[in-house]
Amino acid sequence: MTTFTETYFTMTEADAITYAKTQLSIFPEDAMLSCEEIGDGNLNYVFRLVDRKTFQSVIIKQAGPVARISDEFKVSPDRNRIEHDILKIQGQLTPEFVPEVYHYDPIMNCTVMEDLSDFTILRKAFLSHQTFPNLADHLSTFLVRTLLSTSDLVLGHKEKKDQVKAFINPELCEITEDLVYTEPFYDCPRNEVFEGTLPFVREEIWSDESLALETAKLKFQFLTKAQSLIHGDFHTGSIFVTNDQTKVIDAEFAFYGQAGYDIGNIIANLIFAFVNGEQTIEDPTERSHYTGYILTTIQQIIDQFKEKFIDAFYDQVTERVAEYPGFLEFYLEDLLADTAAVVGLELARRVIGLAPVQDLTDITDADKRATAEIACLKAAKVFILNRQDFFHGEDFTRVISENA
Ligand code: ADP
Ligand code: MG
Ligand code: MG
Ligand code: MG
Repeated sequence: MTTFTETYFTMTEADAITYAKTQLSIFPEDAMLSCEEIGDGNLNYVFRLVDRKTFQSVIIKQAGPVARISDEFKVSPDRNRIEHDILKIQGQLTPEFVPEVYHYDPIMNCTVMEDLSDFTILRKAFLSHQTFPNLADHLSTFLVRTLLSTSDLVLGHKEKKDQVKAFINPELCEITEDLVYTEPFYDCPRNEVFEGTLPFVREEIWSDESLALETAKLKFQFLTKAQSLIHGDFHTGSIFVTNDQTKVIDAEFAFYGQAGYDIGNIIANLIFAFVNGEQTIEDPTERSHYTGYILTTIQQIIDQFKEKFIDAFYDQVTERVAEYPGFLEFYLEDLLADTAAVVGLELARRVIGLAPVQDLTDITDADKRATAEIACLKAAKVFILNRQDFFHGEDFTRVISENA
């Protein structure tokens, strides 16, 4: 008899069915459960359980002890607690944009949540060049609600420190410190650079000492700036969409970090969708429609974020000194400089580092792929080196249009 209540083990599909029958009171006793493991990520197991009688379904996400791609990465299954706890917080701050959570199990390191199988992962939808008119509105609302309410602008400072403690996430932060902030910027053996892109990387990235210095400064900012409870892995693979709804999943990298990290991450991933469209859509009208949509979405995310942040700030701020004239402008300028820097870092790391994105690797023509990747790297340098110059949506889209 399998026991789920003593020691952790990674479940099989059959175990997940037994788990649902014995540990959860979600399905009726006479349910006819079937289960499929549908995980496509690097770190975890995602079981979809369906009652074949009623079609009721749930998702069980279980954290494994090592990465699925390589057991070189040992990662604490405690990240599942973090993912569950932030889902609860996001569920309070912005319920329409996250799955409902039903159960958390600290022994099996799994979270049971709403099945979103009617949704599509945004990265996949972008690979077939679909567009979602409400995306910028939804994402900017999600970002403002999660990043402002968890900051010292709003939270009592003691309460916030308790929260910082609860979301200490050293192993997953280390992955980011290595893969985003360190390895892409020198000739690290773990990098995986496409042949056609390698000469540019050698000459323009690895040989650029001023770029290296800026990435070092940014790494120390990432290590030390506990500004807001961030998602930490806010790319297009962590966003589920339908025509009119948006849901954010997979916040296991969450911790108290710089608010601009999440905004920069999603903007960079929209840029990957942009360069994919530029290089792979043959019909010019279709191409400019799609790439125009991506640029508009980027611009709107920044501009609507600022607008909504300013509105919410005056409603929610509790810190007296934050109301001094000029402080809000200072705060937003700083946040947008962090955002720009992270756009650049994420662009570079997905081209050079260990975990590439399909938007680039799916470009089958070698010249086109190199063109797309080099465009990302040229833009990355501008975003990192000139990060103080970004304040409006247009500042971001201009760099993309000029380089890609
Ligand atoms: P990982 O941390 O391993 O990347 P994710 O949370 O991103 O795991 O989930 C991996 C995949 O599992 C998603 O891309 C999606 O296809 C599926 N998945 C995850 N959560 C759900 C959900 N709530 N409903 C439906 N499918 C899900
Ligand atoms: Mg994921
Ligand atoms: Mg995934
Ligand atoms: Mg994940």
